[in-house]
Amino acid sequence: MELWEINQRSLKFMQFAPLHIWLHSINEPLLISGPCGAESLDQLLKTAKGLNDLNKVSLFRAGVWKPRTRPNAFEGKGEEALKWLAEVKKQFGFKITVEVANAQHTELALKYGIDVLWIGARTTVNPFSVQEIADVIKGVDIPVMIKNPIHADLQLWIGAIERIYNSGTNKIAAIHRGFYYYGKTKYRNKPMWQLPIELKTHYPDLPIICDPSHISGKRELIPFIAQKALDLGMNGLMIESHYDPSIALSDAEQQPTPLQLNELLSKLVLRKQKTGDTIALDKLQQFRNMIDEIDDELINVIKKRTQVIEQIGTYKKEHNITIFQLERWQEILRTRAQWAEKLGLSRLHIERLCQLLHDESIKIQNDVMNE
Ligand code: PEP
Ligand code: MN
Repeated sequence: MELWEINQRSLKFMQFAPLHIWLHSINEPLLISGPCGAESLDQLLKTAKGLNDLNKVSLFRAGVWKPRTRPNAFEGKGEEALKWLAEVKKQFGFKITVEVANAQHTELALKYGIDVLWIGARTTVNPFSVQEIADVIKGVDIPVMIKNPIHADLQLWIGAIERIYNSGTNKIAAIHRGFYYYGKTKYRNKPMWQLPIELKTHYPDLPIICDPSHISGKRELIPFIAQKALDLGMNGLMIESHYDPSIALSDAEQQPTPLQLNELLSKLVLRKQKTGDTIALDKLQQFRNMIDEIDDELINVIKKRTQVIEQIGTYKKEHNITIFQLERWQEILRTRAQWAEKLGLSRLHIERLCQLLHDESIKIQNDVMNE
């Protein structure tokens, strides 16, 4: 079992409004775009013009307060930029979203008629800040998008959603922007798709938007991540863009121009949740029948393995031998990974499976020994 799995019974019941209700847009998947940061009125208008020409963007984003990991980086233009965004709204009719990280940001965003708020990854981690924001929007019913916390803590993500929900709005979306990872990865933030999938399992009607920009950190990787998000049935994409990324004051490497954005969007394949084609459905059903049979076999094999483990437990008890035998465990991991590789299976996948089987084996032997 993965560490982040949550007991369904401990969760609050919540029901969410569909995206089109609060965006008055029928585009699904929904596209949110705009620069990482609002830098100047000129930058915003040029970027908005480019995006408006595409006719695909439902919500214009720009950070006016930039939460930077280290000081002395571009920290946003604050209130002044909210005035520029009002101009973008006036000239192009875009609905606007900005990031808020505290009560003061939220009050200002409301004052300047921002349509949708978003809570950034560095804020979702802090229940005090999220609660501050929730308190300001009490009774306002403004939509809020909540990015996942920087680290892979699903409880914290759900907790932030609950705080906003408790303020009286059900116009909420989650944004999946990947997770900080200490180690080698080709991503700026590791996607760990299992987390948004688990979130969706708990809250099927919660819209989830993927942010391939902050997952990838590089323009070139955006299409691959965006496609995967669509294939997983996510409801939208938030992709940063800048009319001239080479002069962007933040996240320059991950922003395409509106034209580049259009090109990458045109290559994405939109797959349906279901097909109406009866031949395809028949074929799919045949495959599913095959999987059912294989899983049945698999469970029977696991049952057989369990019976042998019980005998091993009894044997170890009679001969006073410890349950865990390091050498045997290392041998299992090594050999199974080799067998898997020979068959073209992922080594990591089989190692994880062995880990699960081994955990259960220890538990069973423990039960037998202490009967
Ligand atoms: C952003 O969207 O520009 C941003 C700061 O994102 P995150 O909170 O995901 O780092
Ligand atoms: Mn950014």
